[in-house]
Formats: sequence, structure tokens, C-alpha cells
Amino acid sequence: MPTSTHTETARLLPLDIEGLSEQQRRGVVCVYDGIALGPDAVNLGQRPHGQIHVFPRACPRCVADQAAETAGAHAAICEQCVDNPVGCETVAALRRLHMEHTR
Ligand SMILES: [Zn+2]
Ligand SMILES: [Zn+2]
Repeated sequence: MPTSTHTETARLLPLDIEGLSEQQRRGVVCVYDGIALGPDAVNLGQRPHGQIHVFPRACPRCVADQAAETAGAHAAICEQCVDNPVGCETVAALRRLHMEHTR
């Protein structure tokens, strides 16, 4: 799996850093549902937050859900998607992310 591209796509997922707990900011538990993370945790990419950077991670199931939701929300605000969703790289990347983590 190409980790760098993957993390870039994961960065598109919405995240309310302000509302995260200490454990969520450290990537110990899932940022979306707060469950303890295992070796299959997905790195959401480093995110700047004021003076610090946080390293959020999430469980695969949440990443799949968030990717699908983000793709849907994106389609409403993207000109490219209105014309031709098949040609939009953002949606394609989000769909791939969704597929990868759907079991
Ligand atoms: Zn989760
Ligand atoms: Zn688009």
C-alpha cells in the first residue's frame, strides 16, 4: 500500500481537533468513536493545531464511513463533480479509501 498517497487522502477527512481528548490527539484511540486502536489503525496525517501538531488515527471502519460521507459532501461543492464526477480525483481518492477499509 502506498502509504504517502494514502495519508494524503486521509487528510481530506474532517476532524474537529478542538474537540479531541488527549488520547485521541496522541493517536491512542480512534478520533471518531474513541475505541482503542490496534495494528490496523489508519494514520490520518499530521495536523497542525496552534503551536503543536497532533497525530490522529482512526479505526478502519470509521475511516470507511468518513470517506463515504466526505465524498458525498464534496460532490455538492465541487464544480468538477457537477460536470463529471468520474473525472474528479478527490472523489476517486476518497472512494479508494472507502473501499480499502470496507470489509
Ligand atoms: Zn473508529
Ligand atoms: Zn470533485
